[in-house]
Amino acid sequence: MLTQIVNARILTPGGWLKNGSVLIRDNKILEVTNCDLPIVGAKMIDAKDSYIIPGGIEIHAHGGGGRDFMEGTEEAFRTAVKAHMMHGTTSIFPTLSSSTMPMIYAAARTTEQLMSEPNSPVLGLHLEGHYFNLNMAGGQMPENIKYPDPTEYIPLLENTSCIKRWDAAPELPGAMQFGKYITSKGVLASVGHTQAEFEDIYTGFHAGFTHATHFYNAMPGFHKRKGYKNEGTVESIYLMDDMTVEVVADGIHVPPTILRLVYKIKGVEKTALITDALACAASDSKEAFDPRVIIEDGVCKLADRSALAGSVATMDRLIRTVVQKADIPLADASRMVSETPARIMGVIDRKGTLEKGKDADIMALDNDLNVRAVWAMGELVEGTNTLF
Ligand SMILES: [Zn+2]
Repeated sequence: MLTQIVNARILTPGGWLKNGSVLIRDNKILEVTNCDLPIVGAKMIDAKDSYIIPGGIEIHAHGGGGRDFMEGTEEAFRTAVKAHMMHGTTSIFPTLSSSTMPMIYAAARTTEQLMSEPNSPVLGLHLEGHYFNLNMAGGQMPENIKYPDPTEYIPLLENTSCIKRWDAAPELPGAMQFGKYITSKGVLASVGHTQAEFEDIYTGFHAGFTHATHFYNAMPGFHKRKGYKNEGTVESIYLMDDMTVEVVADGIHVPPTILRLVYKIKGVEKTALITDALACAASDSKEAFDPRVIIEDGVCKLADRSALAGSVATMDRLIRTVVQKADIPLADASRMVSETPARIMGVIDRKGTLEKGKDADIMALDNDLNVRAVWAMGELVEGTNTLF
């Protein structure tokens, strides 16, 4: 089947295209053209002057629609993934917080099953933990946190194929060996829940830790020790030009001024926007997988208010936040939820931009940046269409 989207502002790698068309055949983009004349045999969709941008690629989300990926079941996964797809996400790397090994194996089996289905939006599993600095546990369950343990991580990566990213604190004993091993297996190593200083970040980068988990959250910035000034993890990451970062862009985990600062210093090509969403995102549910978590002021936090614990955000809200509150152009906001995460996760050859031959993952937004329609692999996501 051939579909032609017209009457839209289309984001291409060369900028905005007006009076053009996006042609979709089956699950691929057949062509993005500067002509909007009807094509014979195509089903024409009038986008009513929507912004047409690539679907969002979520590289850090714990759940949604009332379900958490730590539940490990197919039903929980499908519900959470669907909830995010309603808001513009077309690819997702489900995230587990610091877990036990049986929980990780259960979630890996489910991930592999979903990945084996045709046109799956699930592209791989992301492990946030459990090799973290206990002082920086934040919303992670402290009882699951430990030092990197090769008797756990080597068999896990030998017996599974879905783990695509694993976050750890680089200052821990054994962390460099861990970083080298997992990157040799094609897994992205990311620094997180850490007190790393420049030396740790520099050495870590060369051991494979090329990404930073929820930049600014669960890591110290510039601070004084006995009156003397010290760089924190944040400044150390800024100093590594080739290191990529992700920021929770709900407008609460970091203020809009900091979103703008990250954008200015790291730039579009090194910055991905994430939700870090918990089960209560895109849901009426007030419950998180971790019973210590409450929702207050539009964000998840520990009940003692000692730390933020994740967001209730969705992909469309990230775009609205950075455009409307941090004054970042929509084209750049869009690239930070699609192109940059696609590059970070190694799927840029098939996703992340609207170009001939790529997967037909597309979202249509109105002038207020609310979702009007979402297509994932050329299929309209049920319940998203307000266009036709
Ligand atoms: Zn997280």
